[in-house]
Amino acid sequence: MNMKGNRNITLCFIGPPGSGKGTQTRMLAKAMGFKVIEVGDCLRDLSKTRSALGRKIKSYVEKGKIVPVDIIENVLTKEVKKIKKGQPLIFDGFPRTKKQVKVLEKILKANKRSFDDFYLVYISLPLKEAVSRLRKRRMCEKCESIFINGVTIPKGSKICPLCHGKIIRRSDDKPEVIRKRFQVYKKQTEPVLDYYKGTGKIIKINGNQPPEAVFKEIKKNLKQKIG
Ligand SMILES: [Zn+2]
Repeated sequence: MNMKGNRNITLCFIGPPGSGKGTQTRMLAKAMGFKVIEVGDCLRDLSKTRSALGRKIKSYVEKGKIVPVDIIENVLTKEVKKIKKGQPLIFDGFPRTKKQVKVLEKILKANKRSFDDFYLVYISLPLKEAVSRLRKRRMCEKCESIFINGVTIPKGSKICPLCHGKIIRRSDDKPEVIRKRFQVYKKQTEPVLDYYKGTGKIIKINGNQPPEAVFKEIKKNLKQKIG
């Protein structure tokens, strides 16, 4: 099943931190030709630059806070403009607030991406499970690969098996920041789900199962909705 064609399919993935959104969107990109805009990555990349915008973004990202909506709009508008017509698109980690929902709908309209072909994929995961996953998450400083400590790399590894770079814990995966991200998620992102409740736009997926099973569930649901 490939989603390329005359329609402009747009999916948004939301779920608590650690729910595996990134893994699933990468799998969908590979299997069905989606282009993924990972909003957190866009912001993290910008936060590494020395520009005024970069420094501003950095101060939010490091504290686990939500970046102001005008900055998000600015960044995403530029990203979406680069995308060709008919290219199926995923926003990973967006919209995270009700204010961002307005930005999303504005961007869809401006780029002639029909609301009929828009769906919100919600990956649910109990908080306890999500916290335990995030605690084990590590990243290679050099190639930016993500690993699970004690699962995909031996416990306590310091060296990346792919490029020999240094294994680190991302600053937003530290325990105190994880807790903050959860509070923010509950307070700000759950209202997004309320907003689309009853519209038939939400595809709810059980995230508390192996990645392959989650992926299968997503594909099955997309097929029913989009055909
Ligand atoms: Zn590496």
